[in-house]
Amino acid sequence: MAKTKKGRAAVYHGLGHPMEIREYPVPEPEPGAILVKMRRANICGSDLHMWRGDVDLAALGQPMPVILGHEMVGEVAKLGEGVTTDSAGQPLSPGDRVVYRYFVPCGRCKACLRGDDAACPAAYITVVNPCEPPPHFRGAYAEYYYLIPHQTVFKVPDDLSDEIVAPANCALSEVIYGLERVGLRFGETVAIQGAGGLGIYATAVAKEMGAAKVIVIDGIEDRLNLAKAFGADEVIDMRELKESYERSGRVKELTGNWGADVVVEVVGFPQVIPEGLDMLGNGGRYLELGNVSPLKYVELDPAMLVINGKSIVGVALYTAEALKKSLDFLSRTKDKYPFDKILCCSYPLEKIDKAFEDQNKGLATRTSIIP
Ligand SMILES: [Zn+2]
Ligand SMILES: [Zn+2]
Repeated sequence: MAKTKKGRAAVYHGLGHPMEIREYPVPEPEPGAILVKMRRANICGSDLHMWRGDVDLAALGQPMPVILGHEMVGEVAKLGEGVTTDSAGQPLSPGDRVVYRYFVPCGRCKACLRGDDAACPAAYITVVNPCEPPPHFRGAYAEYYYLIPHQTVFKVPDDLSDEIVAPANCALSEVIYGLERVGLRFGETVAIQGAGGLGIYATAVAKEMGAAKVIVIDGIEDRLNLAKAFGADEVIDMRELKESYERSGRVKELTGNWGADVVVEVVGFPQVIPEGLDMLGNGGRYLELGNVSPLKYVELDPAMLVINGKSIVGVALYTAEALKKSLDFLSRTKDKYPFDKILCCSYPLEKIDKAFEDQNKGLATRTSIIP
């Protein structure tokens, strides 16, 4: 009998443990499933939160160990019986590069029925999966990824490199869906708190959606320069405007003494929320994307929302349509914006701890693992 083929994975046992490289048998795709060979897996902010311990998975009841990682691009290794196309009906064959949603909405709850399956409570549970039971490969930091039947998948256009397309299935799609959810309209003003990967994408997407003015706030010069390259009309340097009231005052000044119509939070610390709400003009919408770690708190004056008619919208996941739009957006604008500058360095799977350490120290904006 032929020996079972095995694939490597970086296995995460929880806080304080280094990643362990383990081998698992490579699963045969069941009917409707797809076995993907990983090409590039990024370290996203939320992976960093877990690795650093801002989120204690085991304490939240997650069965361990797990394979982390959810931002990735792969290629079809094997199609399960009955799979002939991607989720947009394009023909799919072994060797085709693909991106996919790293979560699977249930399709049967109130949110799913409403068409907002990004808010499906079951979807969030499918993001991180225990890796001991088959099919094992349900996280990005491994040689393979197993797409279960009905998981959203799209073929990657040939004109997009792995580097450019790898963040599409998390950062970029989340930003596109988020800006749609807050109803960003042509001619509105947008302020973005934080110029990491999400903030940079939000800048370009807001411009492409017709924002008249995009203002980006950060304290790191390289990031502010990158924001300008991605279309920021104005930047606010936190090293110059050190106080919260100075920054919100500047946003008001830049928006005709009114405040932004939309403010996007992509810093990931609850403390920035009151400042962000202060930057909003009356009737403005606050898009909360950055704070993904539970059990962190901030003090708010809710009357500020009530009296001024402001609202807060939280978004973590996105619709299947948003991922398709991400690919189309990248194809359309790849020569307009320097997308290759968002990623900085790549590491082999064996050096995954080093990749996390470097990104944690801020030595890298977005690192990749190439298994
Ligand atoms: Zn992510
Ligand atoms: Zn659902």
